[in-house]
Amino acid sequence: MDSVTIFYSQENGGIIANMNEEKLSAIRHSLAHLLATAVLEKYPDTKLAIGPVIENGFYYDFEFPAGVSITPEDLKEFQKRMKKLTNKEEPFVGREISLKEAREMFAGQPYKLELIDEFSKEGQTLTAYTNGNFVDLCRGGHVNSTKELNPDAFALTHTAGAYWRGNEKNKMLTRIYGLAFETREELDAYIAHQEEAKKRDHRKLGRELDLFTFSDLVGPGLPLFTPKGTAMRDAIIEKIHGMQKKFGYHNVSIPHITKKELYETSGHWEKFGDELFKVKGASDTEFVMKPMNCPHHTQIYASRPRSYRDLPIRYTEATAVYRDEQAGELLGLSRVRSITQDDGHIFCTIDQIEQETENIISVIREFYESLGMWSTEGSWVSLSVRDLETPEKYLGDSTHWDMAEEILEKVAQNESVPYKRVSGEAAFYGPKLDFMFKDALGRERQLATIQLDFVMPTRFSLEYTDEQGKRQTPVMIHRAIAGSLERFLAVIIEHFAGAFPLWLSPLQVKVLSIGAAHKEYAAKVCAALRETDIRAELDDSDETLGKKIRNVKLEKVPYFIVIGDQEMADEQITVESRDQRKIGMMTVDEFIRNMKAEIAGKSKQW
Ligand SMILES: [Zn+2]
Ligand SMILES: [Zn+2]
Repeated sequence: MDSVTIFYSQENGGIIANMNEEKLSAIRHSLAHLLATAVLEKYPDTKLAIGPVIENGFYYDFEFPAGVSITPEDLKEFQKRMKKLTNKEEPFVGREISLKEAREMFAGQPYKLELIDEFSKEGQTLTAYTNGNFVDLCRGGHVNSTKELNPDAFALTHTAGAYWRGNEKNKMLTRIYGLAFETREELDAYIAHQEEAKKRDHRKLGRELDLFTFSDLVGPGLPLFTPKGTAMRDAIIEKIHGMQKKFGYHNVSIPHITKKELYETSGHWEKFGDELFKVKGASDTEFVMKPMNCPHHTQIYASRPRSYRDLPIRYTEATAVYRDEQAGELLGLSRVRSITQDDGHIFCTIDQIEQETENIISVIREFYESLGMWSTEGSWVSLSVRDLETPEKYLGDSTHWDMAEEILEKVAQNESVPYKRVSGEAAFYGPKLDFMFKDALGRERQLATIQLDFVMPTRFSLEYTDEQGKRQTPVMIHRAIAGSLERFLAVIIEHFAGAFPLWLSPLQVKVLSIGAAHKEYAAKVCAALRETDIRAELDDSDETLGKKIRNVKLEKVPYFIVIGDQEMADEQITVESRDQRKIGMMTVDEFIRNMKAEIAGKSKQW
């Protein structure tokens, strides 16, 4: 998978607001004025910086008088004062002011003066807006009167340090954040959504469920996967490999460092040089950590003469690529520096594109169905095509582009989920189908992708001999089913809140012995499960059964088995499931049969 897109889309999502954006923006902007009004009422010597509208609310940056630090109590007080102001009928009135007038009006406000000078140098008209006694330098966009602001639909949430103009050489200001909506219901819903998101945060759950860790000694953005996290990664890769086996994929394996010439030829060096990790050995040769796998796979293709009879050739590999992301942009598993891609490349003729693409889609569908995420409500396909207004952004000849876009559109039309044509979202080398899914919190996530590429095969002079014995250039299809494993894990940890489907659960069964006399039989049961590749663990500690069961539930293990006198006497096991359902007694063989059925997506017999 070439990751030109994934370079920029590791992080994705956000709640979709369906309100009147313009009105909301006026509300939020007006509330920023009210916040500054309230702050000046309490601390008249505060210096005001800026107070813009942001997603879901607003903020305002302040330099508070020396010795004043803002506490949650202050926020409560500011909020109370703001609410009082919304009870008054004070209009927002604006007027143009001259440079001289502006300088006088904001004489005690150094940040405003800086902006005034800057705006006037740029030839901008200066305007000031008043509500009550408060005046701010502002371009407008308010509600008519403070009375229009719903006192129950906003809340000041927290403060943060922020440098003036985002420059760390400048003074650190205090930023006060607020949420704001039209109605109280919207505010409450948003806060509830945020709380749920916090509970599901993959960084928190990753720690609690012991899935991955970071070490200062290893470095930021370089996750280490524990045995449990690795079990999940292996399960994902195995699942995908199993599903695409019938389509004739072959595993390949490539090194992680490469001469930079490979990426000069592919064009990535020029486009992404800054994001590459450079490696220097004893020789003069310059190496890089691979930022993508496609160029390597072209070299496996190019290692032998190819005939039309050999095509399509399909290579697949789950392997890490490395990108020097800014430390400030790293975020749990969502944005990392070592990115494992479930990568795949197909080399084929133009006539084979349609069938190959359909085969990939069938794997994508089967994979996301196994997660319960393929639905006609939440899922859609972005047919990401080029922007005809900016042809210079794309490589390759336009008849190929037309054809490729047409083929992808045809394939998308045959799919059961809706598709949208999105102009300007194509990769520089070809159009794509990007698969979008909605997670349990309604956040849109882009995961799988299929990309057509006429450019890289040309750059690497790839060839095959056609029926007439003539040399032709193959087409390359890049595909990823899960995308990057790190980002995929971040998404599904949050989607399932850690309670994964059986096939994906790091631990599938826990065997609990009730007393000392049952330890040996419990260990035997656990060993029998492991022998059939079921991920099982034994808890034969001296804790009470109640405590053991509570632990299993915290770990969100799908099934647990209880072993006591009765079970030993009957040579059976008692099975219970994560959702507190007691399933009953059965033999170990019967349990294994049912587990295998569920893992394979077939129905169980209990
Ligand atoms: Zn690729
Ligand atoms: Zn304003």
